[in-house]
Amino acid sequence: MFETTIAGSLPKPAWLAEPEKLWAPWRLEGEELEQGKRDAALMWMSEQEAAGIDVVTNGEQFREHFVHGFLKHVDGIDWNKMTVMGIRDDRYDAEVPTVTGPVKRKGRVHSEEVEFTRAHTTRKLKFTLPGPMTICDTIADDHYGRRDDMAMAFAEILNEEATELAELGVDLIQFDEPAFNVFLDDVIEWGVEALHRAIEGLPCDTAVHICYGYGIEQNLRWKETLGSEWRQYEQIFPALNNSKIDQVSLECANSKVPMSLIGLLEDKVVMVGAIDVASFEAETPQQVAATVVEAANYISREQIRPCTNCGMAPLPRGLALQKLKALGAGAKLAAG
Ligand code: ZN
Repeated sequence: MFETTIAGSLPKPAWLAEPEKLWAPWRLEGEELEQGKRDAALMWMSEQEAAGIDVVTNGEQFREHFVHGFLKHVDGIDWNKMTVMGIRDDRYDAEVPTVTGPVKRKGRVHSEEVEFTRAHTTRKLKFTLPGPMTICDTIADDHYGRRDDMAMAFAEILNEEATELAELGVDLIQFDEPAFNVFLDDVIEWGVEALHRAIEGLPCDTAVHICYGYGIEQNLRWKETLGSEWRQYEQIFPALNNSKIDQVSLECANSKVPMSLIGLLEDKVVMVGAIDVASFEAETPQQVAATVVEAANYISREQIRPCTNCGMAPLPRGLALQKLKALGAGAKLAAG
């Protein structure tokens, strides 16, 4: 049997937030909103369990955005001082808040939602946090001066947060680092070190999710410039394989990343993305199984965790559910 999981996010129900949007505004407020988030999380956890997903998440129903959901709870950031910045090496421009002083958590960030989630599933629980490098690529700096210094400061507060969440019973903490395949030299120079600071002393398993981004227009255009074979990972996989991170999550379904590259992660558990989050057609269980079986040509079956390529937040809800079921069924099929 393969242990299955998902990258992290799932679509929000239309009664909670505007559907098929990455940064969808909430449709409820106050106590109704808080109750709505909990209901949506319960719905998705029970769908994951029914689909045969072994390591579940709360579908990230409690946050509006995967980076800013954390940053909103951090002191030292000026949200009135918005700076226009090229994100992911100028792939797109965004107005981002600015770091103007030492960063510090205002308090516990995700404890409450984790307590609720933990109490409502007996499955293994995974929780995602933004990685230090990706945070630094999503915020302007007017205080630290060097990106690696700022990354270490964020890594320190991520570690405080992760430690609390692990103590509440999270089994796997994953840091999302879509910036890792853009700043390849930085990954080797300080990206892995920042992750090590973020996972220091954690009593649970740890993972990093690297990816080529959601299927949004800017990402699709950028992917067209990368050529027919994406070999970026060849540079960073040896560093990840030598790291203290337990698991690596990456996209393998419909990906131009040659599957053979995962052979470079011989000492890691690999969350093999077998669900394409940029396609509007659900995979068949046979397609999922084929991706998993192909991965098994390069790493041992024990190392493989069938997973989604990336978060499913921007997909229509019904489609995400179909993909979830295909993932569970495909993993069973691959196990034979
Ligand atoms: Zn991703």
